[in-house]
Amino acid sequence: MTNTILVTGASRGIGRACALRLAADGFDIVVHYKSRECEAREVCAEIEALGRCARRLAFDVGEREQARQRLEADIAEHGAYYGVVLNAGLHHDAPFPGMRDEQWDSVLNVDLGGFYNVLRPLVMPMIQRRRGGRIVALSSAAGQVGNRGQVNYAAAKGGVIAALKSLALELAKRRITVNGVAPGWIDTDMTAGSDVEIKKVVPMQRMGSAEEVAGVVSFLCSPDSAYVTRQVIAVNGGLY
Ligand code: NDP
Repeated sequence: MTNTILVTGASRGIGRACALRLAADGFDIVVHYKSRECEAREVCAEIEALGRCARRLAFDVGEREQARQRLEADIAEHGAYYGVVLNAGLHHDAPFPGMRDEQWDSVLNVDLGGFYNVLRPLVMPMIQRRRGGRIVALSSAAGQVGNRGQVNYAAAKGGVIAALKSLALELAKRRITVNGVAPGWIDTDMTAGSDVEIKKVVPMQRMGSAEEVAGVVSFLCSPDSAYVTRQVIAVNGGLY
């Protein structure tokens, strides 16, 4: 039986790259997205072209009840997942003195709240499946060392690290590993239009690609990482 991995925010960017890489590695994929159905369909078609099964699942990871209902229905129909890649996220930057309530609330709700909203319905079925598993959460360089203009995003992504390290302790004896990946500057829609001087800021003098992040996520979902848990791997070109 092929193992299935849910990748949230798989319609584009890092999530899309993770979905395609994990499919190439032999997993069936649940392609989650929020609103870009057309892109999600294309990702599913690419996965099927690789000989793996793919299905779409749409919900807002910040909407707890919606997430719970969609995930429980999917599990009831198809069975528990082997793995989850918590990738869906957003940023809403502002210098702190000018930050609006909505900017703080939306980023905390989606980027940190999503950790709870997505994993809470999934973890018990993963445990009951009794075959181990993999959970990988996308944090960020901002969550490790902070970043100006991103007090909200850094708080959420730092919270993800604290949460995954705690959950790793709870799930270790079940052979479910819980790890994080903390990207630096990665070339996706999220960083398009940024005025950061990458050559000055990043020792490797370039942005990373979504595929380079996906390679690390893939390792953390593979049998090779069976004894790796409660860790956060930075993928940042030497940023810090
Ligand atoms: P993109 O903006 O390119 O893609 C974001 C994805 O998340 C999309 O699939 C989008 O779905 C989905 N999404 C956004 N908000 C929600 C929501 N409320 N509910 C459900 N899905 C949602 O992001 P990246 O690929 O650049 O980033 C992926 C992850 O990596 C994020 O968690 C981000 O914080 C993190 N990261 C990225 C870095 C970078 O430099 N790019 C650096 C550090 C961390 P849809 O297409 O349907 O809108």
